[in-house]
Amino acid sequence: MINQLNIKFQLSILSVIGAIAVLGVLPFAAIRYLQGSTAVAAVNVALVLGIISLVIYAHRSKKPRAASAIIAVFINGGVVVMAAMNGVNSFLWVYPVFAATFFLIRPIKAFCICIIAGVSLVVLTDILDVISLDSYVMTSVVLSLSALSYARHNEKQLRLLETLNTIDPLTGALNRRALTSDMEAALSNSERNGTEQLLAILDMDHFKVVNDKYGHAAGDKVLQEFVAIIRANIRKYDRLYRYGGEEFVLLIPKVNHQQQRILIENLRSSIKDKLKAPGGEEVTVSFGVAPWLPGSTVDAWLNRADEALYLAKANGRDRVVFSND
Ligand code: GH3
Ligand code: MG
Ligand code: MG
Repeated sequence: MINQLNIKFQLSILSVIGAIAVLGVLPFAAIRYLQGSTAVAAVNVALVLGIISLVIYAHRSKKPRAASAIIAVFINGGVVVMAAMNGVNSFLWVYPVFAATFFLIRPIKAFCICIIAGVSLVVLTDILDVISLDSYVMTSVVLSLSALSYARHNEKQLRLLETLNTIDPLTGALNRRALTSDMEAALSNSERNGTEQLLAILDMDHFKVVNDKYGHAAGDKVLQEFVAIIRANIRKYDRLYRYGGEEFVLLIPKVNHQQQRILIENLRSSIKDKLKAPGGEEVTVSFGVAPWLPGSTVDAWLNRADEALYLAKANGRDRVVFSND
């Protein structure tokens, strides 16, 4: 689920740039052609076609980063070439181009590209015949800094929204929304590479008793402690989700057949050793584990883990049952 909102934002920026290329630049190509400036018209058309192809590629691949970087270079290079060929009228495009650059790529890279384009404009065109150097520098620096601060603010807000959208506020585990989208990604990954992975549903045993005896707030603390213990015992790429109430899901990628049982059994015994109710009683957890099977869907995979969990509960709790046992 990481960066989904940022990717959507990047794609929408690319769509806007694509629309501007078609609606804003293409008519100029026609006008220049009719005025007899065939070379300028050809550069305009090449720019538009390049931008449109990159925007389509970004939408199809859902990977806007590379396309954004190429478009940033493309539009900065384009404005220099156009101003060199066409003078001050094309030069004015430098302002929207600089602003867009800060929304397309990271600040340092954006600054470097804008500085190169800005200096090239001075060296390669005659714009200083029309405006003074200090006005040009001041206006482009002020515009770039404003675009930079707005782009950074926007990025921070997207990151915060992403967190609010995917994290369970009580435990800090990922939430169910993140689970569905991560499972879909995990399934397509395994279908592509055939890598083994595990899905486990973890359900606290007799958790109602903890709540009834010590109150809901104490129960909440046990849930938080449970998440801390799991986190301390899983690998960097293993992910823990709160499925609902006192049920959690673990998504464990790239785990081979021999490691699977050891890994889950270690988790079960760590919880049994460390997780305590306020009165010191041990709190245990039952595990229903479903290894990935080719052709699985999100629901079918969860169902297999759920059926295994049901057996773990029925067989006495505090145990691990694999769906293929
Ligand atoms: P079992 O071993 O069969 O799973 O027994 P159980 O008591 O854990 O199962 P049951 O589903 O009957 O009860 C789950 C309990 O989890 C009931 C509910 O009060 C508690 N619970 C669910 N969400 C929260 C929460 O956010 N905080 C607290 N403190 N308790 C919760
Ligand atoms: Mg329970
Ligand atoms: Mg339950």
